[in-house]
Order: sequence, then C-alpha cells, then structure tokens
Amino acid sequence: MTDDKGILGRDGYGRAMSSSSPENSIEARPSDFAQQHFPGAASQNAPWLRDEMLAMLDHWVDWRSHRFSQDLDLPAAGRRSMGRRRLSARLSALRDALTEETPTFTPRYIAHMKSDLSLPAILGWFAALLHNPNNTSREASRVGSVIETEAIAHLATMLGYDADQAQGHFTSGGTVANFEAMWRARYRLDHCLALALHLSETSGERLDPFAAAHMGWDRFRALWAEHGLTEAALKPCSAMAGNPPDIYRRISKAAGQDYLGPVVLAPGNRHFSWDKAVNLLGLGREALWSVRLDARGRMDLEDFEKKILAAREQGRPVLMTVAVAGTTEMSAIDPLDHLFDRLDAWQQQKGWHIWRHVDGAYGGFFRAMLGGDAEGVLTSDTRAALAAMGRADSITIDPHKLGYIPYSCGAFLTSGAQTYAVSAFDAPYLTRQDLAAGKWASTLEGSRSASGAAATWLTAETLGFGPEGLGDILAGTIQARRSLEADVREAIPQARFLPGDANIACFTLAQTGEPLSVTNARTSEAFEFFQHSPAFAVSRTTLGKDGAAVKAAHLATYGGQDDSEDLVVIRLVVMSPYWCEPTVRAEMTTQFVAELAQALKASTTMPTETCEL
Ligand SMILES: *Cc1c(COP(=O)(O)O)cnc(C)c1O
Repeated sequence: MTDDKGILGRDGYGRAMSSSSPENSIEARPSDFAQQHFPGAASQNAPWLRDEMLAMLDHWVDWRSHRFSQDLDLPAAGRRSMGRRRLSARLSALRDALTEETPTFTPRYIAHMKSDLSLPAILGWFAALLHNPNNTSREASRVGSVIETEAIAHLATMLGYDADQAQGHFTSGGTVANFEAMWRARYRLDHCLALALHLSETSGERLDPFAAAHMGWDRFRALWAEHGLTEAALKPCSAMAGNPPDIYRRISKAAGQDYLGPVVLAPGNRHFSWDKAVNLLGLGREALWSVRLDARGRMDLEDFEKKILAAREQGRPVLMTVAVAGTTEMSAIDPLDHLFDRLDAWQQQKGWHIWRHVDGAYGGFFRAMLGGDAEGVLTSDTRAALAAMGRADSITIDPHKLGYIPYSCGAFLTSGAQTYAVSAFDAPYLTRQDLAAGKWASTLEGSRSASGAAATWLTAETLGFGPEGLGDILAGTIQARRSLEADVREAIPQARFLPGDANIACFTLAQTGEPLSVTNARTSEAFEFFQHSPAFAVSRTTLGKDGAAVKAAHLATYGGQDDSEDLVVIRLVVMSPYWCEPTVRAEMTTQFVAELAQALKASTTMPTETCEL
C-alpha cells in the first residue's frame, strides 16, 4: 500500500478530510446540510451539477484531443453522419423510457435500500467512467487501482480497521463480498486441515478436525517450521488442491469418526446471499446453521454458543461465523462486542481461531456516526456493537446502499494481509500472491470497474466518512425514523412498531387481542393500498419461524393471539437524506399519517366504529 501514497496529491490515505475540519464543524452546519451534498428534494442543486458535469466532459475531451496531437489530422469521418441522427433519436427514446423508472430520488420513496445519489458519487462515478480503467490489473488501471486502494483505506478507517494493515477491494455488491469472505475462510481452513492431516498420517496420532481447523496462521507457521514442511508435502492433503471426497475419507480415518465437513453459523435473518454462498462453494444446505434471534431481531448469543459447542461435539469445524450489522428486514445490529468477547475467550483458552465475518452490507456505514455528536442518537448497546466492528476478520459493506453511490458498488475488507490471502490456483503455502501486478488472482470477479471506487473516494474526500459528514446524515435518518414512528403511533393507535436499531421501521396494523391471522390480512391490505397510491412507496416483509421471538414479543404488546407462523409487516426504509431536514420531515410525516389513515379506512378487516380516524 505504501507505494500508492501521494499519487492523488494527498499525503497519506486521503484522510486529510479530518472530522474536525472547520467547514464541517457542527456549529457551521445548516439544517439543509444533507441536501447540500445531494441534488436536492426539489432538484435545487441541478444547475451546479450541470456545470460540474459539463466541465468534466470538457476536461476529458481536451485531454484526449491533446494527448496525441500528431493524430489530429486523422480523417474526421462521422462528425455529421446519418449515425448521429439515429443515435440522437434512439437516445431520446431511451431517456424517455427511463422516466418510467421508479422514482427513488424522492423522500416519498421509503420502500427499499435505495435513495437519491449524492453529488460526489455522481461526479466521481462519471469522472472514472470516461477513462474506463479496469481494476483487474495495474497495467489496465494505473490510476484506477490507486484510487481503489485509497478508497478502501477510507472505508477501513471508518470501519475501525488499521488502514495501514487492512486489505480489500470493490465488488459488484454485498453478495459477492460475502462470497469473498467465505472463499478466504475456506482457504485458511483448508491449509490448517491439510497440515494437521499430514502430521496425523505421518505420526499416527489421532486427528481432531475441529481443533486443527481453528489453529490459526501463527500455529500453522510454527508447526510448518517445527516439522520442516514443504508445499509438496501438504498439497496431497489439501481438499482444495486435490480431491475433496478422498481428503474427507482420509480425515475420517485419521479422526476415527466420520468427517461430515465444516459448518457456517449465521443468524436466522441473514441475507439470502449466504444461502447462495454455501450452495456455490459446494458445502450443502445442511452446513448452514441458523442462529436464533432474540426479541429485538438480533443474534441470540446463548444459541450461538450452543451451536459452536454442538459443532465441536460433532467434530465439524466452523468455517466462519457471520454476524449482521444492519439486517435487511429491520436494520437490527447484532451484539458484535459480546460475540467477539466470547470468541476471544475461546481463542485464548482453547486456541480456537474461528473466522469472524461482519455482514455490514447495509449497516457498515452506521459506524461513520462514532466519535462525534452523531453517535448520540444510538443506544449504548448499538454503539458498543458498532465500535467492535474492527475486531472482525472480514467485513462486507455496500457503498451502493448507505453510501448513496450508484450500483454496482460493494466492498470486501479484511483486517490484514493474512486474512486477505486466498488463491484459486496452486495453493501457495505461506507466501501469498504478489499483488503488485493487480488483484486478478485474489478477486472472484475478473474485470472490475473503477467507478464505484472513484465515487466512494470523492465522497470520502468531500462529505467525509466521519460523524460530521456521512455519520451526521445517517444520524438524521435514524432520528427521522423515530419521529415518524412516534407521530404515526400517536395518530393511529393500531400501528404497532417492531423494535429497531437504526433507520428501518416495521409495523403491523393490529386491534387489541385479535388473532394474528386477522392482523396479517389487514397489514397486507394496507400494503396493497400503498401499492396503488402514488404518494409513498413502502415495502412489505414477512418474519418467519426464525423470527419467533420477535413475533412473540410483538404479540405480547397488544395481547394478540398467535394463530399464524408468519408475522407480516409494512417496512419503511427511512434512508433518504432529505428526511434529515425538519421541514421535509414534517411535511412527509403529515402526508404519510394521512395516507395510512386512508389505508385503514379502506380496510375490510376494521370494525366500522373504529374507522373514524
Ligand atoms: C443488501 C444486502 C446484501 C447483498 O448485497 P447486494 O449488494 O444486493 O449483493 C447482503 N447482506 C445484507 C445484510 C444486505 O442488506
């Protein structure tokens, strides 16, 4: 990383935009702070955006026309061709077609994890697009890969990693970033098991696959040195370098019990990408063990411990543990601090190095709130959980969600070079791939755009990823979610909210003491009402059996009868930066309350006398 310093005219990792820079200070921040970094709810910053876009295009045209000035005499065919006219016409058709797209820029859109794009994101994206670097190799991205390194360092700092040690790269999204984590966890597990199998087969000592798989790199290296091992000796023991069924058979023999392969521990409300990951890596669906949720929709620590011990009991290594920061349904933040304390204790007492991944695809950016006034909106347990994020071996974060950056832009980060190591090719025991030539050997994806990295970089350098930049905006969205919730609750007593750690609100429409099936029908009906109204876009989700504790706690708040496995909720993702501004918030809340009252009035499940809202 050190080679990259200063190439973009900065004296480090681009952290110059410190959270205490005067133009970003709290006192100087007006109430429309969030809007200043976005096109604006009423597109008020459009003229400024247009100027910057034209300047960027001019700069690019100027650059390319003077780069090889000796070529200016080349034939200028095509300047006024038929092709141009057709292009204009079809482009115009394309532009018009796109106006049918769902308008997600508006504060009225609170349906999914999507909102307006920030100004630095749009400009940074286009700036890189015009030059079209391919970050797969340094040769194809002399500047693009440097931007990526600096952008990753910005993200690393925000996530609580040491930016001088952390490694990572941009991906097409959180799904691929999660795959990257599992790929690396398996790389480490395979190395450790291969070494242990070799020692067991040569010494005749019994193999303990659980203990061996979690020995960690330090112990691996010590054993390597102690036994004078070579790559050639270990390769025939590696499932990844050889034949997995054959290796499993030999592990079973060495262990004196059937080896059933590793398991992955992830909470019941994990994103679907984890199910895809175990499928893709050939682990089998059974290997994905769901950890129960508590009443707030967070990972239940007791059940987590029980599952680790069950894996130990069965001689099955834990390939990785997944905790979620900002669940897709409720934006719940798992108790990372307590989870890592538990894993630390096991590491110290038993030598178990169990891979810790944080899926912060949605909520990773909430960490930007820490270290300033913005963190005041968080409850102390959520704050402590976010503060612990840097203790993870690897983290997924999606700039295309709460970073307000265009698709497709995810990122995968690890704490250091050891946890970043992976190879799909010859297993290079101990020595990792030399990354100087590019990341192609250590990314799942091949060709990779630099646009997401550039957009992230420009956002970090202007808005900033601290509590007075993006963190302030995210704090504003959490406050907006709470005040919306309070106002809806007051106006419409049937609206009953689930607990929430961040900026997603989920509620049902329930009458005291009624069966859940009736509530579910009413909530679904109200959702359909919103579907047919242009006023607001909301989403609906269903908590299934993994959310049993959430459901039980919810029913207890109004004496609902549990006659259905599922709990249907209307879900509001309050991530629009425009909700931060008090006037926008007040207006939108008033309108939302009126709309919900209408939905309830239209409901066929309401007794007539309670419809007078
Ligand atoms: C969105 C999300 C993902 C998947 O990310 P994509 O960018 O859609 O691939 C994974 N995990 C969580 C928690 C998410 O919210």
